[in-house]
Amino acid sequence: MAAKWWVALFLILMMHAAAADAQTAPEPIKYTLSFPAPQTHYVEVTAAVPTGRRADVELMMAVWTPGSYLVREYARNVESVTATGPDGRALDVDKSKKNHWRIATGGAPAITVKYRIYCREMSVRTNWVESDFALLNGAPTFITLADLAPRPHEVVINPASGWKRSITALPAMPGGEHRYRAPDYDTLVDSPIVVGNPAVYDFEVDGKKHSLVNVGEGGVFDGARAAKDLEAIVKEDRRLWGMLPYDRYVFFNMITESGGGLEHKNSTVLMTNRWSTRTRRAYLAWLQLASHEYFHAWNIKRLRPAELGPFDYENENTTRSLWIAEGFTDYYADLQVQRAGLQTRDEYLEDLSNTIELLQTTPGRLVQSAEMASFDAWIKYYRPDENTNNTSISYYTKGTVIAFLLDAKIRKATGGAKSLDEVMRLAYQRFSGPKGYTPEQFRAVAEEVAGTSLKAFWESAVEGTSELDYSEALATYGLRFKTAAPSSADRTPKPWLGITTRTDNGRLLISQAQRDSPADIAGLNVDDEILAIDDFRVRADRLENRLEQYKSGDKVTFLVARREQLVRIPVTFGSEPAKAWRLDVSPAATEALRRMLDGWLKG
Ligand SMILES: [Zn+2]
Repeated sequence: MAAKWWVALFLILMMHAAAADAQTAPEPIKYTLSFPAPQTHYVEVTAAVPTGRRADVELMMAVWTPGSYLVREYARNVESVTATGPDGRALDVDKSKKNHWRIATGGAPAITVKYRIYCREMSVRTNWVESDFALLNGAPTFITLADLAPRPHEVVINPASGWKRSITALPAMPGGEHRYRAPDYDTLVDSPIVVGNPAVYDFEVDGKKHSLVNVGEGGVFDGARAAKDLEAIVKEDRRLWGMLPYDRYVFFNMITESGGGLEHKNSTVLMTNRWSTRTRRAYLAWLQLASHEYFHAWNIKRLRPAELGPFDYENENTTRSLWIAEGFTDYYADLQVQRAGLQTRDEYLEDLSNTIELLQTTPGRLVQSAEMASFDAWIKYYRPDENTNNTSISYYTKGTVIAFLLDAKIRKATGGAKSLDEVMRLAYQRFSGPKGYTPEQFRAVAEEVAGTSLKAFWESAVEGTSELDYSEALATYGLRFKTAAPSSADRTPKPWLGITTRTDNGRLLISQAQRDSPADIAGLNVDDEILAIDDFRVRADRLENRLEQYKSGDKVTFLVARREQLVRIPVTFGSEPAKAWRLDVSPAATEALRRMLDGWLKG
């Protein structure tokens, strides 16, 4: 009897628990996407929104999307937001903020919200709809409840006439094709969708399905070869990290004559040019782009700076660590392509040399630290102007160079036993998932692996703006910087001004003046129209030719038009800074140094 009584009590408790679950289990928002006239670039969205029987609900659209640090005001493309109750009667919609809508529900348990979005911005972080296909990103597409309480978001797609497939990394939902279910809003935002008739190439690594989804091959882009080479990159990254952190991964490759890439947890969107498998240079650039975005599946999507989560979709999320999240990703992007055997060592060293040269010829390296470049991405990196090179550096560029120096430093300190690869793995083990890492924690992991203090290095390379010291890295690998010797035909240094120019309706205009260059010192300004040197006319297409008539140290007078007034400016030509940043293997490198170089490049 006692036993029966306990069973009865247990069952009652279970029923209570189930009832409580039913009450608290968040109801999903259910979206339907339709494309009745895709040639007009619109997607029509219907959303069934649960209200929890509140008298009014506040809806929100994100203002930015993670991975691209700029407020983009996605709500500007939203039109005709309407809402109806269960009886089909219209409800009041009040636009309460730039990206908010407040709807009086009349006490209905669910309301239907409809809106349409203009989709004609070809970038990895926006939407595009045309007669052949649609690319939809989560943040600019889905209006959600502003409370952002955790709830599933379901998506049903009605493809336009003639479109056969929809592809996304979102989990499929039962009940037929084109039905998906995101467990939460973050996943919805992190899962772009392509609808149309793309060419799809599948391959498996570790029993996990990977898809290359090509939109716009046009019989030109070599999809089969690209998929085979992506497989080699996937295997190389798997070797570095020791595992693949997802069940399935999609490379969306939009062959749309645009550029860029954006990382997601289980997919990436790449944009490229139809001809990018035709020349080796262009193809390597595409592989490096894909390698970069794919590396993010670990570095930033799962191992991230603590400040980058949970995301605030309505305000800037600042972090001091993009030089790790983006810069180290860029370092490994190229290194892994080389380690996978898709790029030669010489090609790799050439690309690394270009990155070093870019940093070393950017005056802003002495103004902005890697940490501050990260922190100010929203107002500087993503909002460049004519003075950007003078006052800031790219956290991609400096982060790559820091990774190169730090990797060498760790290899040297441990006699080649440890490397930056271990740092990444250990950081992943400790900090992947929701907690993320602080700058101090990441440095502590690096110091633990190196077995030595990195305080001085961090203060100068990461937090500071002093010139980087390459000598240790060069000595570790037996590398050197090879100075390009002036050609024997003309040993006189070319005259140098330090400006870049553009032409506008036949006018020759200064578009940038480098800090402390001869032009900057003399007072040539951005937007000055160059008319003559020493009273001889300079035609817009003849500046290079005219400069060849002078040599470093010559004094001339520029005649420019500045805001419609003629101004004469004396200028003394300087000498072009030497290109001293070409890495190559020193002929004097010992066997031991060559083994160190091998260890780095082979991984
Ligand atoms: Zn990136």
